[in-house]
Amino acid sequence: MNEHTKKVNRKKFIIMLTALLSIVITVLSSSYVIFNELEEQLQQNLEDVATQNALALHNKIHSNYDLLLSLSNNMHGMTPDTIEETLASFEIFLEEYDLKRFAYCFMDGTSYSTDGGVAKLDYREFFQQGIRGKGSITGILTDALEEHHDLVNVMTIPIYDADGQVEGVFGLTYNSENFNDALQISSFNGQGYSCAINSDGQILVAMGNDVLQLSDNLFTDVLDADQRNHHAIADLQHLMETGSSGGGTFYLSEKNYYHCTPVKLMGGDAIWYMLTIIPANVLESRAAPVQNSLYLMACIVAVCILIGVTFVFLLSRDQKRMSLRYAYEDPLTKGANFAKFCVDMNRKRDTQGYIISMDITNFNNINIAAGISAGDRMIKDIWQILTDELQGDELASHVQEDVFSIFLHAENKALLIDRLKQISGRINKRARSSQIKGIHARCGIYEMKESEQLEDAYSKAQLAREQARMQGERHYVFYHEIDHERLQQDQQFEERFEEALAEEAFEVWYQPKYSASSGEVVGSEALVRWRDKDGSMIPPGRFIPLFEQNGMIAKLDEYMFRAVCRQQMQWLSQGQRIFPVSINLSRASLYYVDIVEKYRAIIQEYAINPDYIQLEITESALEGTSNIQELLEQFRDMGIRILMDDFGTGYSSLATLNMQCFDTLKLDKSLIDHIGDKNGETLLYYVISMGQKLGLHITAEGVENNTQLEFLKANHCDDIQGFLFAKPMPSTQFEQILSHS
Ligand code: C2E
Ligand code: MG
Ligand code: MG
Repeated sequence: MNEHTKKVNRKKFIIMLTALLSIVITVLSSSYVIFNELEEQLQQNLEDVATQNALALHNKIHSNYDLLLSLSNNMHGMTPDTIEETLASFEIFLEEYDLKRFAYCFMDGTSYSTDGGVAKLDYREFFQQGIRGKGSITGILTDALEEHHDLVNVMTIPIYDADGQVEGVFGLTYNSENFNDALQISSFNGQGYSCAINSDGQILVAMGNDVLQLSDNLFTDVLDADQRNHHAIADLQHLMETGSSGGGTFYLSEKNYYHCTPVKLMGGDAIWYMLTIIPANVLESRAAPVQNSLYLMACIVAVCILIGVTFVFLLSRDQKRMSLRYAYEDPLTKGANFAKFCVDMNRKRDTQGYIISMDITNFNNINIAAGISAGDRMIKDIWQILTDELQGDELASHVQEDVFSIFLHAENKALLIDRLKQISGRINKRARSSQIKGIHARCGIYEMKESEQLEDAYSKAQLAREQARMQGERHYVFYHEIDHERLQQDQQFEERFEEALAEEAFEVWYQPKYSASSGEVVGSEALVRWRDKDGSMIPPGRFIPLFEQNGMIAKLDEYMFRAVCRQQMQWLSQGQRIFPVSINLSRASLYYVDIVEKYRAIIQEYAINPDYIQLEITESALEGTSNIQELLEQFRDMGIRILMDDFGTGYSSLATLNMQCFDTLKLDKSLIDHIGDKNGETLLYYVISMGQKLGLHITAEGVENNTQLEFLKANHCDDIQGFLFAKPMPSTQFEQILSHS
């Protein structure tokens, strides 16, 4: 896994973690908010219930108090003799108010009650308070007037005589249990607990949940239950002192919420505090459904995110694969492209070997002659051949059009060339099977040093391949073989070309052709010369191959063609006798669009008789395509004769002799140079006679001596061109020859 992928994966992991973390935080915070809201709601409920209970307690106690007050009006001036009768008259209220008894205490503490009991109650707090002129209501007491010792509450008020002095204490007693039951208010489905306490924490009335198991003092119960409750009791006591209502929590067997509200009783003589308590699990059970659905939703969202992330991950992996394919696959060969080649090369540990930039000679012929799809098929087959030939960790890629990059190992240059020849041979064979000739692998080779940048190495191989274009039959060039000085000069030639054309720095020189039999001038060949700024001449061999390679030759050929036409017309108009002039036409010019039309227009422009204009085409220009022959036919239809130049160089094929598109065969100097040796002469003899039998006119080029001339004459060669008679010369000089002929 590379650094970039690791980084991307880390990023994805962080994004996913952040998403999940934010879900957890959202869930927790919303759960917290919900819980708080529910808690607030619960406390509000608690307060409502406490207030209701307080009201109910107040009403209940008040009804007893009112009864006590109203009955007390009949109690003035009671004596032990009258008390029993008076009390008996109150009995009817006992049942109605669910009371246990009424009782009256004289100032000595002797008490009489409706149930007939007489007892000494001067020890009781309520009696003490009563004689001090204060009403009271007790907490739960053990009934002193009865054997069963029921738990009871006693409500007492003082009775005043006419002077306003306390003369006795009148009270009623009710059964705590019945009272509590009567007060029972359903709160929180029975889970709540309510009790009334006094400021000492003594439980006066209790109702509801007995799970709390409280004894008779809430403060001691609560304080005993848990350390943390000290604060709670302090808070509660503070509420009591300030007479306000409020709530909080304390811990018994578990956490409980409470609300405390004061209840003023008996006209303010007694203050009780109504406490409603509820275990915290009520809140939890309320929050649970909301929280559960929240958790469920969070789980669904998390799962969705996980699915989403997985989906995006898979998608991006697919996209990455696809884009890698687009980035590294050559659409035509489905093999490696140059980018892949570079990546693979850069990954290599051992980069010692040969970097080769390879293209295919005359590849355009395939496209022109057999069509683009045949060209594409050829590229695929070449790719197949290349991959077949690779060994071990060697690499290749299809760069563009007919260009391939290759990395090969070889022990030495000779072995490398053997391998390249093998590749070229297979490619050539494949092309020949499609009737296409002149197809070879052309290679620029650079011996790569270790730790060298691939891009630099490949551009050197490319430069070498460019040079290979000018190498003729040798289809490979090593980078170190390149003449860099010459290369620089080439660049200058290219840069100066347009300017030279405009300034007419290209001159037409003429080399006369003579009749072999009569020795008279019969024509000439136009040869270009580039006059440099310093007056020196640059020979065509120096720049023609360069311009052929970069396509500039088409302009130069047209320039020469026009110059010759103009010159012929000028000589004619001067009354000069003129002869046909042959102009060299490069193969690259023949690919020029509308060349025939263009040349026809020039001939028409100068109104020159086409008999005086000829074209020289090298035999190699014909290789591999029939299209050129058609072009030549069109020139011939215009009346222009076509000369096959340089016949006998390279792999000349006798079959080209049979082509119908030529009028003249120009025997190359290399054939003429063989005059003197037997085999060469035999060959020439047959070539000349065969050419003549086919109706071709024969011109010998590069004739330098009389031996050659005599042989050519004897073998009926038609025309002679060579230094023996004349070298190429400027037009003014050639004009002299014309005027003497
Ligand atoms: P080519 O068309 O085969 O021209 C004949 C070449 O042989 C000329 O060289 C000429 O000077 C040289 N030559 C003729 N007789 C003799 C001889 O007896 N001995 C020796 N040693 N050489 C002889 P040049 O002028 O240097 O031209 C070289 C080539 O450049 C031409 O070969 C032709 O292929 C090309 N060329 C010249 N001018 C043009 C042009 O205007 N257009 C194109 N496309 N090619 C041209
Ligand atoms: Mg020529
Ligand atoms: Mg020639």
